[in-house]
Amino acid sequence: MFLKALEIYGFKSFPDKTRLEFDHGFTAVVGPNGSGKSNLSDAMRWVLGEQSSKSLRGAKMQDVIFGGTQARSPMGFAQVALVIDNADGKLAGMQAEEVTVLRKLYRSGESEYRINGQAVRLKDVHELFMDTGLGKDGYSIISQGKISEIVSAKSEQRREIFEEAAGIAKYRYKKNEAERKLERAEENLLRLRDILQEVE
Ligand code: ATP
Repeated sequence: MFLKALEIYGFKSFPDKTRLEFDHGFTAVVGPNGSGKSNLSDAMRWVLGEQSSKSLRGAKMQDVIFGGTQARSPMGFAQVALVIDNADGKLAGMQAEEVTVLRKLYRSGESEYRINGQAVRLKDVHELFMDTGLGKDGYSIISQGKISEIVSAKSEQRREIFEEAAGIAKYRYKKNEAERKLERAEENLLRLRDILQEVE
């Protein structure tokens, strides 16, 4: 699995369609303070499904939409797409050699996620990246302050990072999902028994 490109449009300080292509090896982004370096990693976490506006350094989610400058009017939506080379088939259930994940948010609050052009739910994006280390909580994105957060984290929280790296997180997630389904089925069964009793 290899990150090929990041496409940004209307996200934070990027009102123009901007495509960054990543080559094999090391990529460094340099620029003066406030030029938008951190906005790039914000864009990457956002497209992967980040739900916390605070961790994206905003008060509300719509703050990621380009808010305008003296010379330019604000935009009505933000859109970010992440292009991944999936030739090794590491992305769960995806046969395609290239996978594009897209997230779009309108000022009205309406939002959409797409995987290779097909509308999906946030849950599908989470499941796609599970155990790859690339999800929004994955260990691939280490933001400022994250190292000290990991060092000072409770052992259970630190264990979650190791579990994701070891490929266990997906099974824990599936187990929780199965337990929730079981609970719902038991509730339905209970209701059904009540109805049966009433009828009898
Ligand atoms: P530093 O080196 O100081 O950490 P940086 O290069 O990482 O800076 P960022 O924090 O990525 O810079 O970008 C900050 C800039 O992004 C600010 O100029 C801010 O005004 C601009 N910005 C953030 N959100 C928006 C938005 N919604 N619309 C327009 N501009 C925005």
